[in-house]
Amino acid sequence: MDYSNHPETLGVRAGSAHTEFGENSEAIFLTSSFVYTSAAQAAARFSGQEPGNIYSRFTNPTVTMFQDKLAALEGAEFCVATSSGMSAILACVMGLCSAGDHIVASRSIFGTSVQLFGNILKRWGLETTFVSLTDEAEWAAAVRPNTKLFFVETPSNPLTEVCDIAALAALAKKSGALLAVDNCFCTPALQKPIDLGADIIIHSATKYIDGQGRCLGGAVLGRKDVLEPVYGFLRTAGPTMSAFNAWVFLKGLETLSLRMEAHSRNALALAQWLEGQPQVERVYYPGLPSHPQYALAMRQQKAGGGIVSFDVKGGRDGAWKLIDATRMVSITANLGDAKSTITHPATTTHSRVTPEARAAAGIGDGLVRVAVGLEHIDDIKADLERGLKG
Ligand SMILES: *Cc1c(COP(=O)(O)O)cnc(C)c1O
Repeated sequence: MDYSNHPETLGVRAGSAHTEFGENSEAIFLTSSFVYTSAAQAAARFSGQEPGNIYSRFTNPTVTMFQDKLAALEGAEFCVATSSGMSAILACVMGLCSAGDHIVASRSIFGTSVQLFGNILKRWGLETTFVSLTDEAEWAAAVRPNTKLFFVETPSNPLTEVCDIAALAALAKKSGALLAVDNCFCTPALQKPIDLGADIIIHSATKYIDGQGRCLGGAVLGRKDVLEPVYGFLRTAGPTMSAFNAWVFLKGLETLSLRMEAHSRNALALAQWLEGQPQVERVYYPGLPSHPQYALAMRQQKAGGGIVSFDVKGGRDGAWKLIDATRMVSITANLGDAKSTITHPATTTHSRVTPEARAAAGIGDGLVRVAVGLEHIDDIKADLERGLKG
């Protein structure tokens, strides 16, 4: 192939493979297994002497194309696709940690990730210490001799806090741990964690990689030798990506750069407008100079991304009133869709987090999160303005 490393070009061209039929759009290989020309070939495939597909829980050509395209975009050597973002996180931990190991994770991660680390993995002998995303001293203090993994999300959900990936990568290295970054909010179109020193990238492909809210999927990326046990867990335990979903995500990656720029442009305009609204107490958006890590975000990211959160006056009632006054924006907890979505984190995505933990993470009852879509910005503002006035 003869093209440069521009993300726009990689998104369209990288990883695509074609069959003898000469199709221009990638084929969906909806097949559970693959056939061999002889018993000897079957034996060679199973022993690994001959490369090739065996069974779609192990590899599938459409899924492989998705993995190769995403790996090219992230600048990663290796990518394994999973059935969801949560199974990407689970596979990462199952592959890299054992009972008795210790994990340090940011307090301000996706609510379901808090449940996974804090409750489920704990029952299997994996202890997680939750620390402030942005306080490096807390990370350093939490490290133990058996610490295997650092886990962060930046910008975080829903408060869009930003951590210094390069600084955390250096601390992880010094501590003998691997740094995993959930890059769901930025995608490689806006942020490249491996270039900044991270060992592992996690994706929920469900969000911006799909871009139109259709399919669940995820991915783990990093060095091949590091991720070999993660792939081993997936092919044995089974939460792998379906060929159909991989095909949808392949199409999503073709327009990812373009969409992330448009989401970011709309989100910045909305955040600036919200800052001027008397009913709004505080706006959280990494592209605003008022954001505590604005300088870092602008150094680390190409743009602020599509997520804007804000505190409205009146606590839960104020937030619900605003949400219920919308007539266009979708009331749903999903994000990364062409359709703008609005949610109340305290009673949806973070409702299963204890009130104390929620307060510690700074998620107040008046907090509203908007995943800014691709509609005209004037229509998005008008839809929120009704609730802010009412
Ligand atoms: C949605 C999300 C996940 C989980 O992904 P699923 O595909 O829903 O399993 C993980 N991390 C972040 C930041 C998310 O937004």
